[in-house]
Amino acid sequence: MRHSGLPLRCWAEIDLAALERNLRLIRASLPAHIRYVAVIKADAYGHGLHQTAARLMHAGADLFAVATLSEAAAVRELGPGWPILLLSPLLPEEDRYLADYDLAATVSTAAEVARFDAVGRAAGRPIAVHLKIDTGMGRLGVWHEHAPELFRKIVASAHVKLAGVFTHFASPDDDAAFTAEQRRRFLAVLAACEGIRLSELFVHADNSSGLETMPGASPFNAVRVGLLQFGILPHPNSLLSQVHTEPVLSFRTRVGIVKTLPRGTTISYGRTHTLARETTLAVLCAGYGDGIPRAASNRAQVLIRGLRCSVLGRVTMDQTIVDVTDVAGVQCGDEAVLIGRQLGGEIFITEFSRWADTIPWETLCSVTKRVPRLYRTALGV
Ligand SMILES: *Cc1c(COP(=O)(O)O)cnc(C)c1O
Repeated sequence: MRHSGLPLRCWAEIDLAALERNLRLIRASLPAHIRYVAVIKADAYGHGLHQTAARLMHAGADLFAVATLSEAAAVRELGPGWPILLLSPLLPEEDRYLADYDLAATVSTAAEVARFDAVGRAAGRPIAVHLKIDTGMGRLGVWHEHAPELFRKIVASAHVKLAGVFTHFASPDDDAAFTAEQRRRFLAVLAACEGIRLSELFVHADNSSGLETMPGASPFNAVRVGLLQFGILPHPNSLLSQVHTEPVLSFRTRVGIVKTLPRGTTISYGRTHTLARETTLAVLCAGYGDGIPRAASNRAQVLIRGLRCSVLGRVTMDQTIVDVTDVAGVQCGDEAVLIGRQLGGEIFITEFSRWADTIPWETLCSVTKRVPRLYRTALGV
């Protein structure tokens, strides 16, 4: 949604060179044999699927993981040959596109194996699948105790080819004991699958948060990285903070008007804030219609002229009101930073997400279609 030529009122800047540097840094922090599965579902976490996938191809990702068929088709259009894994289950009428687009499917059930085998038979070449093991996430995957049986079914299906085996952690950032138990269950499954040739498969468990607990010598030979490649640490105090990734996205808007109101005036819908002093406020050109969650009302801060300004009252659909009493010279048109850097200041997405009672993953998915994405494409890496 670029309104070509019109001035920007609220926009996201995406630094593709930072994305590429992040991938290289993450790679360098892992053993050399570990392959990089770039998770780019949900429009590459709001960064733009096309631009993100193209740059990660350039940077050397080994496999792309997406949620939906339309996301997979968009990546496939960038070029033949790149391995693409669908992380979500397929609807029956979607099956045939596995062959058309040359995709790998996630398999959790015997019924799926039979369906994909039929697609492979009709297409005249086998369908690649990654066997997903439920080791305690309770979502997709075959329950670990039943996994060897499903593995045998895959091996016995002539038109399905096993390309990977994986699991997903439920609490990698705050429950080390349960994560260890999930790993143990996964390794037990691998040991129980007779004839499995792990070196020929993608064997993966870790997402961004799991990376720091990944054991050195183990059959794992790939990681699935989403959030971290966008320069966001899944949680503070992460060991991963030694990997100096940079935020790829910043979220910006501009000042619409500046005015001064007397002490005692109430601000915005519901009158949830009362001015405790005579206050100069700026009305920003963005609201929840752009991706500033209403939950951030009376809590969030923005940067104007490098200084932090507090949100006053409720965030509205198109406007947000901030206190600029202590910032000299604010004018209509000034840039206000919601997430990102300005002069000496910086607002992290983790902070923004706390103000909104959510997590960075959801914050990124909440930047709306109204917000144009501006790409910095410099090749400086
Ligand atoms: C989204 C997702 C990931 C990526 O997780 P991050 O925490 O963003 O790194 C990995 N694996 C699966 C199965 C996912 O759904």
